Amino acid sequence: MPAFRIPIKHCRNCGAAVAYRVPDDGDTRERAICPACGTIHYENPLNVVGTVPHWGDRVLLCKRNIEPRWGKWTLPAGFMELGETTVQGAERETDEEAGAQIEMEDLLTVISVPRVGQVHLYYRARLLSERFEPGHETLEARLFAEHEIPWEEIAFRTVRETLLRYFEDRRRGQFGVHNLEVL
Ligand code: ZN
Repeated sequence: MPAFRIPIKHCRNCGAAVAYRVPDDGDTRERAICPACGTIHYENPLNVVGTVPHWGDRVLLCKRNIEPRWGKWTLPAGFMELGETTVQGAERETDEEAGAQIEMEDLLTVISVPRVGQVHLYYRARLLSERFEPGHETLEARLFAEHEIPWEEIAFRTVRETLLRYFEDRRRGQFGVHNLEVL
């Protein structure tokens, strides 16, 4: 069991206490299995989706009003919800955290973070105005040029890597999709 997930205690189907063991079907990992109804509970990585909102040569960062990393700067991003696409999720998070009006553009980074069982996807997004209305998860939302980015105060490595790729591509005059790993 990876340490970052709370172990499953009860069956989602019938409520009986589950036991962790390797299923008999040729599987190689331990799963929470229900001895009463046989349900196998598979646990898989979660997707975090976000944007790099840009306005001229500046990008929008949000100062976190929540733990972890309270008071640090981040790009708008959060867990994808069931029933939405990655693009919809990234757009929703940008609205919730920054209250920013955007036009979604192409994917910029796909970052595997196996240590916490997550995959982060960041899209470029063109800001349609300089007016922001940060939600309760954000202390402040403001634009930064590359030389103004508070690199020492960036909340997460995935955000740092995404910002680095954004500015590199921007200087080169060509944006790509970057497949990265944070180990
Ligand atoms: Zn059950």
